[in-house]
Formats: sequence, structure tokens, C-alpha cells
Amino acid sequence: MIRNSITVIFLALLISASSVSAQRDWAGMKVETTELAPGVFRLFVGNSVAVVAFTGPDGLLVVDAAYEQTSPQLLEALRAISDKPIRYLVNTHLHADHTGGNLALGMEALIIANHSVKDWLASDRRRGDDVPGPFPVNAQPALTFEGDMHLYFNDTDIYLRHLPEGHTRGDIILYFDQAKVLVVGDLLFAGYFPFVDVSQGGNPLGLINNLHWILQTYPEDLTVVGGHGPAMSMSQLREYLVRLESSVAAIATAKASGLNIDELKANRILADWESFGTFFITEDRWIDIVYPYVN
Ligand SMILES: [Zn+2]
Repeated sequence: MIRNSITVIFLALLISASSVSAQRDWAGMKVETTELAPGVFRLFVGNSVAVVAFTGPDGLLVVDAAYEQTSPQLLEALRAISDKPIRYLVNTHLHADHTGGNLALGMEALIIANHSVKDWLASDRRRGDDVPGPFPVNAQPALTFEGDMHLYFNDTDIYLRHLPEGHTRGDIILYFDQAKVLVVGDLLFAGYFPFVDVSQGGNPLGLINNLHWILQTYPEDLTVVGGHGPAMSMSQLREYLVRLESSVAAIATAKASGLNIDELKANRILADWESFGTFFITEDRWIDIVYPYVN
């Protein structure tokens, strides 16, 4: 199974944990750029969150915007790829490590997302860094959809699909069929237990179902880019899903035997998945997430 020790080191950088945000060295976070296919780049921000950029004659399309605080280096990395305008920004979902950069990129890009993301970013919520209130209009999605959407850009077809009830209620995936790249946002924490935001309509069993649907629906020869962890092949994704699903089965079996949630943790029933717990979601947090959903 894929491991990325550098990623492990940066586990504390993930998501919108406001308690640690003050200690983060935002300016010191680097952006590592990898070309996945002609014109399609993965930009790994702070060894934590993945952004994807697609460039061509018409400009840039960017998938996710990372943190508000890493916008200067993200913009610099995007400018190194292309000096053409950022025409579109797609938010795969609402979390601040994917939408914070909307504040900067939204100055020139039209933002696309599921409608629930627009509702959240326009609401009087907290963004995760103790800054209350809605985003300005240009940092909110201007184009929202349910179901699916077909974008024709840079002489290429890009297929967007909304997969509800996974990581959140508003997860979007993007398929670049000519480039053979599939961007799945936080439906994939590659190599790790995933965070599932139940408070935002996520569901751990739904996330697993959505990954199955992806494996059944798309061709085998794709590069799959998740929001966190390294890019994967489809066969690596399949291997990962088998392991993730077996962790859910282990929780279900232990619960069915009459053990309560504290006993599952005390017995370390997920000890065989130790490497899965080294990123953001520990063995205990994965038990917390899954336990209520299995019988
Ligand atoms: Zn997320």
C-alpha cells in the first residue's frame, strides 16, 4: 500500500483545526507541482492538500483552492504553469482547506460547486480560522449544479458529477477523459482512514459506496487524485478500498459481538490498519465515525 512519510509528518496541517492554525507556518508551506498528463498538474500544498490545474489555449481551470493563507504560493505555482487567466475554479466540497483560496482565486475565476457549497459559503458560518461571516460574493460559487455537468474547455471534455452522502453532502468529482485523470476530492484520503463530515451530510458507508461506484464507472487506466495523500492508479484505489472496507467489517463484527465503542478502542481492534491511522483520522476516530452506522 502506498505510504508517504512526508505526508505523515504534516498531519497537523489538515482541515480547519482552528486551535492549531495560529501555530502554522503558512508562509513556509511549499507547493509541489507534478504534471500528471499533458496540461494537467497536481499541486500539493503544504504536503497536505491537493489542487489540480488544467491549462491550455483558453486559460486555466483549477480544482480546489487550498487554504486562504496559502493563496500567495498557490498563485505563484499556478503562474509558473500558465500566464493565462484562471477561468474556472471548481470546489470539490466546502471545507476550508479546499475553499479558503476562493478569496484570492475568485477575483478572476468563475467558481463552480454543488449548490450546498454555495449555501455554506454564503452563510453566517465560521470558516475555521475564527473569522465569522459569509465569503464575499466573488469567493462564492457563481455556477452550481446537482447531478452532473459537462464542461468543454481547452478543446477538452471535462465531466463533473455530484456524489452526495460521502465525505460531505456536496462532493463533486471531475473526469478529464482525454488526460485520463479523475479528481475525487476528499472521497479519497489515499492510504489513510478518511475524514467523514457527518455534520455536513457525510456518511462513511456512503463514502465507500461512492468509491465502489467510481471503480465500476470509470476506465481502468486513470490517475486518481484525492484531496489528501498521493495520487493513485485505479488498481491502487481498489486495493485501498478493500482494506478500508475490511476495517468497517471489523468494527461491525466487534459491535455485533456486544462490545461498546470504548471496548473497541481499548481492544485496538484496528491494530492491523495501523498505517491508515497515521494521518489525520486515528484508529479511535475512525471507530467513532463508523460505529453508529454498522449493526
Ligand atoms: Zn474535506
